[in-house]
Amino acid sequence: MDLSEAQRLMREIYGRRDRERGAALTALHLVEEVGELFEAVRTGGAVEVEEELADVLAWLLSLSDLLGVDMDSAFEDRYGSGCPKCGRSPCACPPLPTGRWSPWTSVS
Ligand SMILES: [Zn+2]
Repeated sequence: MDLSEAQRLMREIYGRRDRERGAALTALHLVEEVGELFEAVRTGGAVEVEEELADVLAWLLSLSDLLGVDMDSAFEDRYGSGCPKCGRSPCACPPLPTGRWSPWTSVS
C-alpha cells in the first residue's frame, strides 16, 4: 500500500468523522498519538511501537486529507530530491545538537 492508497483508506474509514471534528482537533489527536508513540519507543515492545507508528500515520493522513493535501505528492515534492535543506542524499547537514536530557533518565 502506498501513501495515496493509505490516505484513501483513511478517508473511507474515518472521512465523515474527520470532517465533523475539523482540522484543529484532528491535529490535536495527531499530537496525542505522537505522545503515545514516544511512550511506546521509551517503554514498549516491538508490537506496541509498530501499532503506534501506524496510528501516527493514520492521523497524519486524516489531517492531510482534511487540509486537501495529497501526502504522496507532498512527500515526493519535499524529499524526493534528497534532504530539503542541503539537497543531498544522504544528508550532509551538520548533526543536530544533543543535550544532556534523556527520556530514559528522570527529570526533576
Ligand atoms: Zn541535509
